[in-house]
Amino acid sequence: MTTGPAIQLKGLSLSYGDVVAVDDVSLDIPGGEIHCLLGASGSGKSTLLRIIAGLERQGEGSVTIGGEVVSDAEGHIETELRPVGFVLQDYALFPHLDALENVLFGMPDRKSAESRMKAEELFAEVGLSDRVDAMPHTLSGGEQQRVALARAMARSPQVMLLDEPFSSLDVQLRAGVRETTLRILREAGVATVMVTHDPAEALSCGDRVSILREGKLIQTGSPEAIYHHPCGQEAAETFGVINRLAGESSGDRVKTSLGEVGLAAQDPGCPGTVLLRPEQLVLVESGDGGCRVDRIFPEGSTTLYLVQTAEDERLYVRMLSTETLPEDSSLAVRLR
Ligand code: ADP
Ligand code: MG
Repeated sequence: MTTGPAIQLKGLSLSYGDVVAVDDVSLDIPGGEIHCLLGASGSGKSTLLRIIAGLERQGEGSVTIGGEVVSDAEGHIETELRPVGFVLQDYALFPHLDALENVLFGMPDRKSAESRMKAEELFAEVGLSDRVDAMPHTLSGGEQQRVALARAMARSPQVMLLDEPFSSLDVQLRAGVRETTLRILREAGVATVMVTHDPAEALSCGDRVSILREGKLIQTGSPEAIYHHPCGQEAAETFGVINRLAGESSGDRVKTSLGEVGLAAQDPGCPGTVLLRPEQLVLVESGDGGCRVDRIFPEGSTTLYLVQTAEDERLYVRMLSTETLPEDSSLAVRLR
């Protein structure tokens, strides 16, 4: 066992014709970490995952897994020979094999009693001991996904790659399957890279999160750091609409039309502008109000309001949906 990172990516780039799908990506991921890759559609998430798996070869850079260089300018180790498991978006079980045979398929010695025992242990872990004989089409989406996970775990990988593995599950099922999957991976000490385009999923699942934009890795950090201290406007906007206010800074404070805000040491210098998330603002009743709600976007537990201020600024304000709004004539926006 090496003590270095389980996955080490250095200067990875890959272009398809004129499209730069992955652009100079470097990243270290330790064993046991769940690392979420977050980005819009087309930002290069799947391509990066395919490069780590060895399904695609980068144009530049290197991939090291468990201390061994598996791909660089000199050589390229095939997917089958890498200590890597993966679960893709549509789980793609072999339809003509039952669940157990699907899991045994990936094992080096699939006829041995030992392999069968290991497979049965994996079924127990994913909570499907009673479905080992089932054909894939008789399994629900969540069950198929868990069989796909068991199949990927059957090779005892050091690295697990998950490409939007929960996106085709309905909401009720998703949270449960996600929790089971990530718990098993954490307990096994596997370094996991999980691709998602859902910011909430990335924040709630990732020990760390990386934001990809047009093939570039623009920020890596803990969910807390990524959300509260984005490295710039692009990173901030990954999590939805944001307010830009003119600001005048002095020391660690910035003066805005809504009052003063404090700056954290790690916040990037963005001269003249303050970015505020909608939940950092609140609508209140005030004699000097003069704000008007232009649009209302119900979000379930919260509601997003687009507000026009008396100074003709347009601001997004997020409130709990259980909070009631004062009358339009006396509305004002304040910093929370
Ligand atoms: P994501 O998974 O973030 O949606 P992808 O990695 O699939 O993004 O794609 C990144 C970019 O590379 C996109 O512009 C996509 O069109 C392009 N691309 C991906 N795979 C191929 C391919 N096999 N041939 C040509 N272009 C590709
Ligand atoms: Mg993709």
